[in-house]
Amino acid sequence: MLPPPVDLACPAAQPDSPVTVEVLAAGFVPSRWERATNSGRKGPLRLPSLVGLVHHPDGTVLVDTGIGEATRRGEYPGWPLQALFHPELAPAGSIAAQVPEPPRLVVLTHLHYDHVSGLLDLPPTTVWMDRRDWWAYGPGAPGVPARRIADRHAVEPLDLDTPGVAGRALGRPAVDVFGDGAITVLSTPGHTPGSVSVLVQAADGPWLFIGDTFWLAEQLDGANRPWLTRLVVDSDPAELRASQAWTRWLAGHCPDLRVVPAHEPRWAEGAP
Ligand SMILES: [Zn+2]
Repeated sequence: MLPPPVDLACPAAQPDSPVTVEVLAAGFVPSRWERATNSGRKGPLRLPSLVGLVHHPDGTVLVDTGIGEATRRGEYPGWPLQALFHPELAPAGSIAAQVPEPPRLVVLTHLHYDHVSGLLDLPPTTVWMDRRDWWAYGPGAPGVPARRIADRHAVEPLDLDTPGVAGRALGRPAVDVFGDGAITVLSTPGHTPGSVSVLVQAADGPWLFIGDTFWLAEQLDGANRPWLTRLVVDSDPAELRASQAWTRWLAGHCPDLRVVPAHEPRWAEGAP
């Protein structure tokens, strides 16, 4: 394991926090274990698209939005993605049907289709992502309905890559969402150019939503995506290695930290 950055320490518990967290499954992608992980497990696997639902006194924040109704209507993700993987809506419906109130803010861990498609079902809101992902997958790029997202929502790309512009947290460029330390967006690039993770300081302890830095909980312990899968889905192997080492350090050293990989099946069945 790589040594941690010098300023990395476990997030401290904040038992007086008014924030609570739920994990919802908003869609599934049928796959196989041997395609998703190199741990030796084989057989059919349904990868959930997990969404973090964060209840903050200033409003509800969603981390990702899963697979939405445009998939049921056959509008997205379109060819060739539609032929490569067959996204399904969750039995409970899109994220818009599952949340108790319209979100004040949506933070996208990255702009792959299975994380953004639920945006088209939500009422107009503010949407944050790293600007490097908006450049890579914004209007004009295939697979992501970026133009429709921008028509519907207030898209606010974050500058996490210019030194000195963002703050820092856990050794990473970071933005404090409400200025109270409760919800922090952290730059963890590699799976895509602008992948982010989201730290939440909730009453029941700290949570870390890591998007697709890892897909599965077993990958926090040493397994990884198989090399052929990595070749297809990951954009920058060197940056991803650094983000994965950072994630594993936190998962391995911080027993109170709940780390949520965006496609871990056990989170779709309740907490692991
Ligand atoms: Zn994903």
